[in-house]
Parts: sequence; C-alpha cells; structure tokens
Amino acid sequence: MKYSDYFKDLSAGSKKQTEIVINGYTDTLPATLIRGRENGKSILITTGMHSGEYPGIPATLTAAERIDPEKVSGRIMMIHCLNPSGFRERTDNYVPEDGKNMNRIFPSDNTGTPADRIVSFVSKELLPETDFVLDLHSGGQSERLTDHLYFPAEGQAAEESLKTASFLNFPYLTASYSRGGEVGYAGNILGIPGLLLERGHSGYCLPEWTENMTEDILTVLTALGVLPGTLRQNQSHTVFRKAVYAESDTEGLWYPYIQENENVRRGQILGEVRNFRNEILQTVSAEGDGIVLYFTPGLSVRPGWPLVAYGLSEKLTE
Ligand SMILES: [Zn+2]
Repeated sequence: MKYSDYFKDLSAGSKKQTEIVINGYTDTLPATLIRGRENGKSILITTGMHSGEYPGIPATLTAAERIDPEKVSGRIMMIHCLNPSGFRERTDNYVPEDGKNMNRIFPSDNTGTPADRIVSFVSKELLPETDFVLDLHSGGQSERLTDHLYFPAEGQAAEESLKTASFLNFPYLTASYSRGGEVGYAGNILGIPGLLLERGHSGYCLPEWTENMTEDILTVLTALGVLPGTLRQNQSHTVFRKAVYAESDTEGLWYPYIQENENVRRGQILGEVRNFRNEILQTVSAEGDGIVLYFTPGLSVRPGWPLVAYGLSEKLTE
C-alpha cells in the first residue's frame, strides 16, 4: 500500500492508530495517521530503525497524542518502530532475522530478507509521496553522543532541509552525503528534503531527551506549515560541511582519549586499538580541527566498527 492509500478512509480533521503490514515480514509496524482539516504537505516521521536508540519512540507517541488534527494542514504518518523484532530482542542497530542495518541498504527490494522488505516499503511505497521525512536516532548502546542532526547535502533537498534545521535547537548541523540511509536516500537521490536527528545515547531513554525530541517533531511540523504558529531561527548552531567517521581496522581493545562534544586539534591522538598483549594495532589521529559528535567508549571492537566521529571546523587541504 502506498502512503496515500493509508489516508483514504480517514476523514479530514481526524487521526487513528494502526499496524502496518509488510508482505513477507511477520511483525507489524505500529503507526499513527493524522489527516488535517486543511490540505498541506505529506510528512513521514520514523524512528526505532536502530532498535537500541530509544528516545525517538516515546517522542513520536507523545507528539501523536499532542497533535490536534483539526489544526493540521496536510497529512502525517508516524511509524513508532521500524524494527519491532530488533526492539523486542534488544539488538543495537540491526534486524535480528538477517543482521542487516537498515540505514545502509536503501532503497533495497521487496523480495529479500525482512530488513530489505521494510526498507523497500519505505523507499518505494512511502517516500515517493512524501514532501518531508524526519527520522529519529540516538547514539547506540555502546556509543556516547552529543546532540546533532544530519541534513542531505546534495541537490535541491539540501537548502530546504537546512532551512528547517535552523529552527531546531541543535548545536551541530552536519551535512550527509549518505545514499543508503533513509534521509540520505530521500534527499540525495530522490530530492525530498528531510532531517535525521540524534539525541541521547548508551541505550538509555532519559525523559529530557524524549521531551526535546517531542519538541523537535512539533517544531519541524510548524516550520513546514503543517502545524500553525511562528518560529524563530536558532542562530547558535555550527554547520559542519564535512565529518570524519573513523572505524576500527582490526579486532581488539579500543581506548578512546576524548569525550563527546570535545574540541579536537589536527594531529591529536583520539584513541588507540590494542591487543591483549597491550601492543598498539591502530592509532586514530584527528585529520583536522573539529568537535567530537559521538564515540565508542570501549572496549571490544571489530573491523568496520565505529570508533569516533567528528565534524570538521576547517577545510582539509587535498
Ligand atoms: Zn541510529
């Protein structure tokens, strides 16, 4: 079923809770549909894709309760958990049936494993009829993180995404060149503006993170004219046009020497991967001056696992 099909039997100025069924996937996706009194933009809000990133889930439930459909212009689909089996199994960021990270495999296809089918549903049935996509994330179970967001950096979606982001209370706005993630695929491939928000970390679900994310949802909807009201642009953010995502080259013991939201200088040693003989296998140094957005506090790492990500405050010399 396509995005608009879900709203066919919903009268103007009403909302309903539903369970989305995906062909070939045994779980259903809990969702809220809101159809405004007036026409306007069609919005998709998703969370729980990474099943150990919690604050977005109650944030969407609270926002769905608070929104009065009589005051809405347009349509809102909120999917409260994109990875229900992962949520149940407490996996960090993958679908337990196939081990796939959904935010790496967009647009995928509807004949594959459960992760492929969920992603294909979003990319083929929902996104093409969507005017804006908001996807809520956090640091993972083994990740510390400072509040930041990602906006698609390429094409026509970049400007509107960044404009919408400027109304939100985030200190760091980071350009994303991703093509295999939900917001990256929507923005950088389909030209649909959107934002990926990151608040909270470490597998916790603290009330202030959830409350801030609820406000984020309502602010984005107001900025897009879906909810009434006026907003002031937040002038205090830093835009990172480039970020570095350092990964482990090897299996080992990771010792970070930084914290989230810390300033780093070019050449500064950010951490080391060692073996059980305490020999250094990998040294991670800052490629430029910047701010640590998130990092793995330790200890066990494997090849390709994230170690530290930092936004660059200066242009790298090529
Ligand atoms: Zn995530």
